[in-house]
Amino acid sequence: MAEQTAMEKLVSLCKRRGIIFPSSEIYGGLSSAWDYGPLGVELKNRIRDLWWKGMTRLRDDIVGLDAAIMMHPRVWEASGHVENFTDPLVDCKSCKHRFREDQIPEESRTAGRCPDCGGELTETRRFNLMFKTHMGPVENDGAAVYLRPETAQGIYVNFRNVRQSSRVKIPFGIAQVGKAFRNEITTKNFIFRTCEFEQMEMQYFIRPEEDEKWFAYWLDERQAYYRKLGIRPEKLRLHRHGPDELAHYAKVAYDIEYEFPFGWSELEGVHNRTDYDLRRHGEYSQKDLSYLDESTGERFIPYVIETSAGLTRTVLTALADAYDEEEVEGEKRTVLHLHPEIAPITVGVFPLVKKDGLAELAGEIERELRDEFSTFYDQGGAIGRRYRRQDEIGTPYGVTIDYQTKDDGTVTLRLRDSMKQIRVARRRLAEAIRDETKNYGRE
Ligand code: ATP
Repeated sequence: MAEQTAMEKLVSLCKRRGIIFPSSEIYGGLSSAWDYGPLGVELKNRIRDLWWKGMTRLRDDIVGLDAAIMMHPRVWEASGHVENFTDPLVDCKSCKHRFREDQIPEESRTAGRCPDCGGELTETRRFNLMFKTHMGPVENDGAAVYLRPETAQGIYVNFRNVRQSSRVKIPFGIAQVGKAFRNEITTKNFIFRTCEFEQMEMQYFIRPEEDEKWFAYWLDERQAYYRKLGIRPEKLRLHRHGPDELAHYAKVAYDIEYEFPFGWSELEGVHNRTDYDLRRHGEYSQKDLSYLDESTGERFIPYVIETSAGLTRTVLTALADAYDEEEVEGEKRTVLHLHPEIAPITVGVFPLVKKDGLAELAGEIERELRDEFSTFYDQGGAIGRRYRRQDEIGTPYGVTIDYQTKDDGTVTLRLRDSMKQIRVARRRLAEAIRDETKNYGRE
Protein backbone atom coordinates (compact mmCIF):
# COMPACT_ATOMS: atom_id res chain seq x y z
CA MET A 1 0.00 0.00 0.00
CA ALA A 2 1.34 3.44 -0.92
CA GLU A 3 2.34 5.56 2.05
CA GLN A 4 -0.30 8.02 3.14
CA THR A 5 0.43 11.69 2.62
CA ALA A 6 0.43 14.05 5.59
CA MET A 7 -3.03 15.30 4.61
CA GLU A 8 -4.42 11.78 4.24
CA LYS A 9 -3.17 10.92 7.70
CA LEU A 10 -4.82 14.00 9.14
CA VAL A 11 -8.13 13.35 7.39
CA SER A 12 -8.14 9.79 8.59
CA LEU A 13 -7.28 10.74 12.19
CA CYS A 14 -10.05 13.36 12.15
CA LYS A 15 -12.61 10.82 11.00
CA ARG A 16 -11.44 8.05 13.33
CA ARG A 17 -11.46 10.22 16.43
CA GLY A 18 -14.60 12.26 15.82
CA ILE A 19 -13.01 15.54 14.88
CA ILE A 20 -14.27 16.03 11.32
CA PHE A 21 -16.53 13.79 9.20
CA PRO A 22 -17.46 14.00 5.50
CA SER A 23 -20.92 15.57 5.21
CA SER A 24 -23.91 13.24 4.63
CA GLU A 25 -21.54 10.33 4.48
CA ILE A 26 -24.20 7.62 4.59
CA TYR A 27 -25.42 8.96 1.23
CA GLY A 28 -21.94 8.93 -0.26
CA GLY A 29 -20.93 12.37 0.97
CA LEU A 30 -21.28 15.82 -0.54
CA SER A 31 -18.21 17.05 -2.31
CA SER A 32 -16.05 19.06 0.06
CA ALA A 33 -18.65 19.65 2.75
CA TRP A 34 -17.62 18.58 6.23
CA ASP A 35 -19.20 18.10 9.63
CA TYR A 36 -17.48 18.77 12.94
CA GLY A 37 -17.76 15.83 15.33
CA PRO A 38 -17.77 15.82 19.14
CA LEU A 39 -14.09 16.79 19.39
CA GLY A 40 -14.04 19.00 16.29
CA VAL A 41 -16.79 21.26 17.52
CA GLU A 42 -14.87 21.77 20.78
CA LEU A 43 -11.70 22.65 18.89
CA LYS A 44 -13.51 25.04 16.55
CA ASN A 45 -15.40 26.73 19.39
CA ARG A 46 -12.21 27.21 21.41
CA ILE A 47 -10.37 28.81 18.51
CA ARG A 48 -13.37 31.05 17.96
CA ASP A 49 -13.62 31.91 21.67
CA LEU A 50 -9.96 32.85 21.89
CA TRP A 51 -10.39 35.18 18.92
CA TRP A 52 -13.59 36.66 20.35
CA LYS A 53 -12.11 37.21 23.79
CA GLY A 54 -8.99 38.86 22.34
CA MET A 55 -10.99 41.03 19.97
CA THR A 56 -13.83 42.13 22.23
CA ARG A 57 -13.63 41.32 25.96
CA LEU A 58 -9.97 42.19 26.43
CA ARG A 59 -10.28 45.50 24.57
CA ASP A 60 -12.13 48.77 25.06
CA ASP A 61 -12.40 49.68 21.41
CA ILE A 62 -14.14 46.73 19.72
CA VAL A 63 -17.75 45.58 20.04
CA GLY A 64 -19.43 42.45 18.70
CA LEU A 65 -22.22 41.79 16.23
CA ASP A 66 -24.11 38.83 14.82
CA ALA A 67 -25.84 39.79 11.58
CA ALA A 68 -28.16 37.65 9.47
CA ILE A 69 -26.73 35.51 6.68
CA MET A 70 -29.37 36.67 4.20
CA MET A 71 -29.39 40.38 3.57
CA HIS A 72 -31.18 42.83 1.31
CA PRO A 73 -30.04 42.09 -2.28
CA ARG A 74 -29.02 45.74 -2.77
CA VAL A 75 -26.24 45.16 -0.22
CA TRP A 76 -24.40 43.04 -2.78
CA GLU A 77 -24.86 45.56 -5.55
CA ALA A 78 -23.48 48.31 -3.34
CA SER A 79 -20.60 46.17 -2.13
CA GLY A 80 -19.57 45.38 -5.69
CA HIS A 81 -20.00 41.63 -5.26
CA VAL A 82 -22.68 41.24 -7.95
CA GLU A 83 -20.37 42.82 -10.47
CA ASN A 84 -16.91 41.85 -9.27
CA PHE A 85 -16.97 38.80 -7.04
CA THR A 86 -15.98 36.42 -9.77
CA ASP A 87 -13.32 33.85 -10.39
CA PRO A 88 -11.87 32.94 -13.79
CA LEU A 89 -13.06 29.50 -14.86
CA VAL A 90 -11.55 27.22 -17.52
CA ASP A 91 -12.49 23.68 -18.53
CA CYS A 92 -10.43 21.02 -20.21
CA LYS A 93 -12.04 19.98 -23.47
CA SER A 94 -10.62 16.45 -23.16
CA CYS A 95 -10.80 15.28 -19.55
CA LYS A 96 -13.50 17.84 -18.59
CA HIS A 97 -11.65 18.81 -15.43
CA ARG A 98 -12.47 22.32 -14.25
CA PHE A 99 -9.95 24.82 -12.91
CA ARG A 100 -9.65 28.28 -11.48
CA GLU A 101 -7.43 29.83 -14.11
CA ASP A 102 -5.30 31.72 -11.58
CA GLN A 103 -4.53 28.45 -9.77
CA ILE A 104 -3.08 26.43 -12.62
CA PRO A 105 0.68 26.36 -13.18
CA GLU A 106 2.13 29.18 -15.27
CA GLU A 107 3.28 26.87 -18.15
CA SER A 108 -0.17 25.30 -18.54
CA ARG A 109 -1.84 28.70 -18.42
CA THR A 110 0.29 30.29 -21.12
CA ALA A 111 0.08 27.19 -23.31
CA GLY A 112 -3.69 26.94 -22.78
CA ARG A 113 -3.20 23.30 -21.85
CA CYS A 114 -4.79 21.20 -19.11
CA PRO A 115 -2.40 20.58 -16.18
CA ASP A 116 -3.90 17.09 -15.68
CA CYS A 117 -4.00 15.61 -19.21
CA GLY A 118 -2.46 18.21 -21.53
CA GLY A 119 -5.76 18.67 -23.40
CA GLU A 120 -6.92 22.00 -24.77
CA LEU A 121 -8.46 24.47 -22.31
CA THR A 122 -11.58 26.53 -23.03
CA GLU A 123 -11.60 30.33 -23.06
CA THR A 124 -11.71 31.88 -19.60
CA ARG A 125 -15.18 32.66 -18.30
CA ARG A 126 -15.93 34.84 -15.26
CA PHE A 127 -18.00 32.98 -12.71
CA ASN A 128 -19.80 34.70 -9.79
CA LEU A 129 -19.10 32.97 -6.50
CA MET A 130 -22.27 34.01 -4.70
CA PHE A 131 -24.99 31.43 -4.04
CA LYS A 132 -28.28 32.83 -5.21
CA THR A 133 -31.64 31.67 -3.94
CA HIS A 134 -35.20 32.96 -3.61
CA MET A 135 -37.05 34.17 -0.59
CA GLY A 136 -40.72 33.21 -0.50
CA PRO A 137 -42.67 30.81 -2.70
CA VAL A 138 -42.27 32.58 -6.03
CA GLU A 139 -39.04 32.13 -7.91
CA ASN A 140 -38.53 35.42 -9.64
CA ASP A 141 -35.70 37.86 -9.68
CA GLY A 142 -37.55 40.30 -7.45
CA ALA A 143 -37.31 37.76 -4.64
CA ALA A 144 -33.67 36.85 -5.21
CA VAL A 145 -31.40 36.78 -2.20
CA TYR A 146 -27.79 35.69 -1.77
CA LEU A 147 -26.08 33.70 0.92
CA ARG A 148 -23.45 36.13 2.15
CA PRO A 149 -19.97 35.48 0.70
CA GLU A 150 -18.33 37.39 3.58
CA THR A 151 -19.53 38.51 6.98
CA ALA A 152 -18.10 42.03 6.58
CA GLN A 153 -21.13 43.56 4.89
CA GLY A 154 -23.32 42.81 7.92
CA ILE A 155 -20.96 45.06 9.83
CA TYR A 156 -21.03 47.95 7.35
CA VAL A 157 -24.81 48.05 7.11
CA ASN A 158 -24.97 48.17 10.91
CA PHE A 159 -22.35 50.90 11.24
CA ARG A 160 -24.95 53.54 12.08
CA ASN A 161 -26.88 51.29 14.47
CA VAL A 162 -23.78 50.36 16.42
CA ARG A 163 -22.48 53.90 16.47
CA GLN A 164 -25.77 55.31 17.72
CA SER A 165 -26.43 52.59 20.28
CA SER A 166 -22.97 52.01 21.78
CA ARG A 167 -21.37 55.47 21.97
CA VAL A 168 -18.21 54.13 20.33
CA LYS A 169 -15.71 56.71 19.11
CA ILE A 170 -13.21 56.44 16.30
CA PRO A 171 -10.97 54.49 16.22
CA PHE A 172 -13.25 51.54 16.99
CA GLY A 173 -13.99 48.12 15.60
CA ILE A 174 -16.89 45.73 15.12
CA ALA A 175 -16.18 42.01 15.28
CA GLN A 176 -18.24 39.14 14.00
CA VAL A 177 -17.97 35.38 13.61
CA GLY A 178 -20.27 33.54 11.27
CA LYS A 179 -20.92 31.42 8.22
CA ALA A 180 -20.09 32.56 4.73
CA PHE A 181 -20.78 30.81 1.43
CA ARG A 182 -18.91 30.78 -1.85
CA ASN A 183 -19.63 28.65 -4.86
CA GLU A 184 -15.98 27.74 -5.26
CA ILE A 185 -14.87 26.29 -8.58
CA THR A 186 -12.41 23.92 -7.03
CA THR A 187 -12.75 22.71 -3.50
CA LYS A 188 -10.01 20.49 -2.23
CA ASN A 189 -7.51 19.92 0.54
CA PHE A 190 -9.99 18.83 3.20
CA ILE A 191 -11.52 21.84 4.98
CA PHE A 192 -9.11 24.36 3.43
CA ARG A 193 -11.51 25.55 0.74
CA THR A 194 -15.17 24.69 1.11
CA CYS A 195 -18.37 26.24 -0.18
CA GLU A 196 -19.70 26.76 3.33
CA PHE A 197 -17.21 28.01 5.91
CA GLU A 198 -16.88 30.28 8.90
CA GLN A 199 -15.11 33.58 9.12
CA MET A 200 -13.88 35.66 12.03
CA GLU A 201 -13.88 39.22 10.77
CA MET A 202 -13.23 42.55 12.37
CA GLN A 203 -13.70 45.92 10.71
CA TYR A 204 -11.78 48.75 12.37
CA PHE A 205 -13.08 52.25 11.60
CA ILE A 206 -10.43 54.96 11.55
CA ARG A 207 -9.59 58.48 10.38
CA PRO A 208 -8.48 58.22 6.71
CA GLU A 209 -5.11 59.82 7.35
CA GLU A 210 -4.26 57.20 9.97
CA ASP A 211 -4.63 54.20 7.68
CA GLU A 212 -0.97 53.23 7.46
CA LYS A 213 -0.49 53.31 11.21
CA TRP A 214 -3.52 51.14 11.92
CA PHE A 215 -2.76 48.78 9.08
CA ALA A 216 0.70 48.07 10.53
CA TYR A 217 -0.81 47.69 13.99
CA TRP A 218 -3.39 45.10 12.89
CA LEU A 219 -0.93 43.16 10.81
CA ASP A 220 1.20 42.72 13.95
CA GLU A 221 -1.75 41.91 16.18
CA ARG A 222 -3.02 39.23 13.88
CA GLN A 223 0.32 37.50 13.66
CA ALA A 224 0.50 37.56 17.45
CA TYR A 225 -2.86 35.76 17.60
CA TYR A 226 -1.46 32.77 15.69
CA ARG A 227 1.54 32.63 17.96
CA LYS A 228 -0.89 32.57 20.89
CA LEU A 229 -2.69 29.66 19.28
CA GLY A 230 0.64 27.87 19.40
CA ILE A 231 1.27 27.88 15.63
CA ARG A 232 5.01 27.56 14.87
CA PRO A 233 6.24 31.01 13.76
CA GLU A 234 8.50 29.57 11.03
CA LYS A 235 5.39 28.20 9.34
CA LEU A 236 3.85 31.65 8.99
CA ARG A 237 4.75 34.37 6.53
CA LEU A 238 3.28 37.47 4.94
CA HIS A 239 2.40 37.94 1.31
CA ARG A 240 1.66 41.40 -0.02
CA HIS A 241 -0.90 41.56 -2.85
CA GLY A 242 0.41 42.93 -6.11
CA PRO A 243 -1.77 45.31 -8.15
CA ASP A 244 -3.28 42.43 -10.16
CA GLU A 245 -4.27 40.53 -7.00
CA LEU A 246 -5.99 43.33 -5.08
CA ALA A 247 -9.71 42.89 -4.43
CA HIS A 248 -11.98 45.56 -5.90
CA TYR A 249 -12.28 47.33 -2.54
CA ALA A 250 -8.68 47.19 -1.35
CA LYS A 251 -5.92 49.77 -1.33
CA VAL A 252 -3.35 47.58 0.42
CA ALA A 253 -3.73 43.91 1.30
CA TYR A 254 -1.56 41.30 2.97
CA ASP A 255 -2.22 37.63 3.39
CA ILE A 256 -0.96 35.85 6.45
CA GLU A 257 0.09 32.54 4.97
CA TYR A 258 0.72 29.18 6.55
CA GLU A 259 2.84 26.40 5.14
CA PHE A 260 0.23 23.64 4.83
CA PRO A 261 1.30 20.13 3.77
CA PHE A 262 0.20 21.15 0.24
CA GLY A 263 2.22 24.39 0.27
CA TRP A 264 2.03 28.02 1.42
CA SER A 265 -1.55 29.30 1.36
CA GLU A 266 -3.63 32.10 2.78
CA LEU A 267 -4.92 31.84 6.30
CA GLU A 268 -6.10 35.38 6.86
CA GLY A 269 -6.34 38.62 4.91
CA VAL A 270 -5.59 42.03 6.37
CA HIS A 271 -7.02 44.71 4.10
CA ASN A 272 -7.19 48.45 3.87
CA ARG A 273 -10.72 48.76 2.43
CA THR A 274 -10.56 52.57 2.52
CA ASP A 275 -14.01 54.23 2.68
CA TYR A 276 -15.16 52.08 -0.24
CA ASP A 277 -17.89 50.10 1.56
CA LEU A 278 -19.37 52.85 3.73
CA ARG A 279 -19.34 55.28 0.82
CA ARG A 280 -21.08 52.83 -1.51
CA HIS A 281 -23.70 51.88 1.10
CA GLY A 282 -24.28 55.58 1.72
CA GLU A 283 -24.87 56.12 -1.99
CA TYR A 284 -27.05 53.05 -2.54
CA SER A 285 -29.16 53.42 0.61
CA GLN A 286 -29.29 57.23 0.53
CA LYS A 287 -28.47 57.20 4.25
CA ASP A 288 -25.77 59.29 5.81
CA LEU A 289 -22.99 56.94 6.92
CA SER A 290 -20.48 59.64 7.71
CA TYR A 291 -18.96 60.13 11.13
CA LEU A 292 -19.04 63.34 13.10
CA ASP A 293 -16.04 63.96 15.30
CA GLU A 294 -17.66 65.89 18.14
CA SER A 295 -14.39 67.24 19.47
CA THR A 296 -13.39 68.92 16.19
CA GLY A 297 -16.75 69.27 14.42
CA GLU A 298 -15.28 67.44 11.42
CA ARG A 299 -17.43 65.10 9.38
CA PHE A 300 -15.89 62.33 7.29
CA ILE A 301 -16.40 58.81 6.02
CA PRO A 302 -14.13 56.53 8.02
CA TYR A 303 -11.58 54.24 6.45
CA VAL A 304 -11.68 50.59 7.38
CA ILE A 305 -8.88 48.20 8.21
CA GLU A 306 -10.26 44.70 7.97
CA THR A 307 -8.87 41.54 9.50
CA SER A 308 -10.53 38.58 7.85
CA ALA A 309 -9.66 35.12 9.13
CA GLY A 310 -11.19 31.81 8.22
CA LEU A 311 -12.28 29.98 11.37
CA THR A 312 -12.53 26.61 9.65
CA ARG A 313 -9.23 27.27 7.89
CA THR A 314 -7.67 28.06 11.26
CA VAL A 315 -8.93 24.71 12.53
CA LEU A 316 -7.03 23.05 9.67
CA THR A 317 -3.96 25.13 10.43
CA ALA A 318 -4.04 24.19 14.11
CA LEU A 319 -4.43 20.50 13.27
CA ALA A 320 -1.78 20.44 10.54
CA ASP A 321 0.66 22.34 12.72
CA ALA A 322 0.04 20.11 15.72
CA TYR A 323 0.25 16.73 13.97
CA ASP A 324 3.35 14.72 14.72
CA GLU A 325 4.52 11.13 14.72
CA GLU A 326 7.29 10.14 17.08
CA GLU A 327 9.07 6.99 18.03
CA VAL A 328 8.76 6.26 21.74
CA GLU A 329 10.38 3.14 23.17
CA GLY A 330 10.27 1.43 19.81
CA GLU A 331 6.62 2.28 19.17
CA LYS A 332 5.02 4.92 17.00
CA ARG A 333 3.26 7.68 18.92
CA THR A 334 0.84 9.93 17.02
CA VAL A 335 0.40 13.17 18.86
CA LEU A 336 -1.35 16.48 18.32
CA HIS A 337 0.68 19.22 19.97
CA LEU A 338 -2.36 21.48 20.30
CA HIS A 339 -2.06 24.46 22.59
CA PRO A 340 -3.83 23.61 25.88
CA GLU A 341 -6.16 26.60 25.37
CA ILE A 342 -7.65 25.04 22.24
CA ALA A 343 -7.33 21.29 22.77
CA PRO A 344 -10.81 19.67 22.68
CA ILE A 345 -10.15 17.87 25.96
CA THR A 346 -7.89 19.50 28.51
CA VAL A 347 -7.53 16.75 31.08
CA GLY A 348 -7.85 12.97 30.86
CA VAL A 349 -8.42 11.30 34.22
CA PHE A 350 -7.41 7.67 34.70
CA PRO A 351 -7.53 5.27 37.63
CA LEU A 352 -4.48 3.02 37.43
CA VAL A 353 -6.79 0.05 38.03
CA LYS A 354 -10.55 -0.17 38.46
CA LYS A 355 -10.54 -1.99 41.78
CA ASP A 356 -9.86 -1.03 45.40
CA GLY A 357 -11.85 2.17 45.18
CA LEU A 358 -9.47 3.82 42.67
CA ALA A 359 -12.18 4.15 39.99
CA GLU A 360 -14.50 5.94 42.44
CA LEU A 361 -11.71 8.21 43.59
CA ALA A 362 -10.74 9.06 40.01
CA GLY A 363 -14.39 9.78 39.18
CA GLU A 364 -14.54 12.17 42.11
CA ILE A 365 -11.40 13.99 40.99
CA GLU A 366 -12.67 14.23 37.43
CA ARG A 367 -15.90 15.84 38.64
CA GLU A 368 -13.91 18.37 40.67
CA LEU A 369 -12.11 19.49 37.51
CA ARG A 370 -15.17 19.67 35.25
CA ASP A 371 -16.28 23.12 36.11
CA GLU A 372 -13.04 24.67 34.94
CA PHE A 373 -11.64 22.24 32.36
CA SER A 374 -13.01 19.97 29.71
CA THR A 375 -12.32 16.48 31.05
CA PHE A 376 -12.49 12.88 29.93
CA TYR A 377 -12.63 9.85 32.18
CA ASP A 378 -11.17 6.56 30.98
CA GLN A 379 -10.71 3.41 33.02
CA GLY A 380 -10.34 0.83 30.23
CA GLY A 381 -7.13 -0.93 29.21
CA ALA A 382 -3.46 -0.46 29.95
CA ILE A 383 -2.49 2.99 31.17
CA GLY A 384 0.02 3.46 28.31
CA ARG A 385 -2.71 2.85 25.77
CA ARG A 386 -5.01 5.30 27.49
CA TYR A 387 -2.28 7.96 27.35
CA ARG A 388 -1.75 7.28 23.64
CA ARG A 389 -5.43 7.67 22.86
CA GLN A 390 -5.36 11.10 24.47
CA ASP A 391 -2.07 12.07 22.79
CA GLU A 392 -3.68 11.39 19.44
CA ILE A 393 -6.43 13.95 20.05
CA GLY A 394 -4.10 16.48 21.65
CA THR A 395 -5.16 16.24 25.31
CA PRO A 396 -2.35 18.14 27.06
CA TYR A 397 -2.75 16.68 30.56
CA GLY A 398 -3.29 13.23 31.98
CA VAL A 399 -4.06 12.66 35.66
CA THR A 400 -3.49 9.20 37.06
CA ILE A 401 -4.91 8.04 40.35
CA ASP A 402 -3.01 5.18 42.00
CA TYR A 403 -2.60 3.55 45.39
CA GLN A 404 -0.42 6.39 46.61
CA THR A 405 -3.33 8.76 46.00
CA LYS A 406 -5.25 6.90 48.70
CA ASP A 407 -2.33 7.21 51.12
CA ASP A 408 -1.09 10.76 50.66
CA GLY A 409 -3.64 12.52 48.43
CA THR A 410 -1.26 13.08 45.52
CA VAL A 411 -1.86 12.25 41.85
CA THR A 412 0.40 11.96 38.81
CA LEU A 413 0.12 14.76 36.30
CA ARG A 414 1.44 13.69 32.90
CA LEU A 415 2.37 16.27 30.29
CA ARG A 416 1.58 15.30 26.70
CA ASP A 417 4.53 16.88 24.86
CA SER A 418 7.42 15.90 27.15
CA MET A 419 5.62 12.86 28.63
CA LYS A 420 7.05 14.06 31.92
CA GLN A 421 5.16 12.94 35.01
CA ILE A 422 4.96 15.03 38.15
CA ARG A 423 3.46 14.28 41.50
CA VAL A 424 0.91 16.90 42.56
CA ALA A 425 -1.30 17.19 45.61
CA ARG A 426 -4.94 16.70 44.64
CA ARG A 427 -5.94 20.04 46.12
CA ARG A 428 -3.31 21.81 43.99
CA LEU A 429 -4.15 19.99 40.75
CA ALA A 430 -6.27 22.71 39.12
CA GLU A 431 -3.63 25.28 39.96
CA ALA A 432 -0.86 23.11 38.46
CA ILE A 433 -2.87 22.71 35.23
CA ARG A 434 -3.50 26.45 35.09
CA ASP A 435 0.22 27.16 35.57
CA GLU A 436 1.32 24.66 32.94
CA THR A 437 -1.14 26.21 30.48
CA LYS A 438 0.06 29.72 31.21
CA ASN A 439 3.69 28.72 30.66
CA TYR A 440 3.01 26.44 27.71
CA GLY A 441 5.57 26.56 24.96
CA ARG A 442 6.14 23.85 22.44
CA GLU A 443 9.72 22.61 22.32
P1 ATP B 1 -8.86 32.84 -2.10
O1 ATP B 1 -8.10 33.80 -2.96
O2 ATP B 1 -8.02 31.74 -1.48
O3 ATP B 1 -10.13 32.34 -2.71
P2 ATP B 1 -9.78 35.14 -0.75
O4 ATP B 1 -8.56 36.00 -0.91
O5 ATP B 1 -10.94 35.34 -1.63
O6 ATP B 1 -9.34 33.62 -0.81
P3 ATP B 1 -10.83 36.47 1.50
O7 ATP B 1 -11.99 36.98 0.74
O8 ATP B 1 -9.75 37.41 1.87
O9 ATP B 1 -10.22 35.20 0.75
O10 ATP B 1 -11.40 35.72 2.77
C1 ATP B 1 -10.86 35.88 4.04
C2 ATP B 1 -10.57 34.55 4.69
O11 ATP B 1 -11.71 33.69 4.66
C3 ATP B 1 -9.48 33.76 3.99
O12 ATP B 1 -8.21 34.16 4.43
C4 ATP B 1 -9.79 32.35 4.42
O13 ATP B 1 -9.24 32.06 5.69
C5 ATP B 1 -11.29 32.34 4.54
N1 ATP B 1 -11.89 31.74 3.34
C6 ATP B 1 -12.15 32.35 2.16
N2 ATP B 1 -12.70 31.50 1.29
C7 ATP B 1 -12.79 30.29 1.94
C8 ATP B 1 -13.28 29.00 1.58
N3 ATP B 1 -13.81 28.78 0.39
N4 ATP B 1 -13.20 28.01 2.49
C9 ATP B 1 -12.68 28.22 3.72
N5 ATP B 1 -12.21 29.43 4.13
C10 ATP B 1 -12.26 30.45 3.25
